[in-house]
Amino acid sequence: MYGWVIVLLVFLCFYTILQGVTKLLQQRKHLEDDTLRKVVDTSIRYEKNYDAAIGHLGICEKCQKRLEEISKE
Ligand SMILES: [Zn+2]
Repeated sequence: MYGWVIVLLVFLCFYTILQGVTKLLQQRKHLEDDTLRKVVDTSIRYEKNYDAAIGHLGICEKCQKRLEEISKE
């Protein structure tokens, strides 16, 4: 009788997990030079992957160094 509620809950759980995994994968991917340039000129704010890019930048030394180099160009 409440079968649809369970289906909805399972779907919501699945959706939440999927979102978490997607975010994690995006954070593990190194940022493109193009994206880093957008960080430098702050136009990254208008990108839809803004959160993931900044999140990755916060944990990745390699991208932080690259950002430093790009900002000196
Ligand atoms: Zn990186």
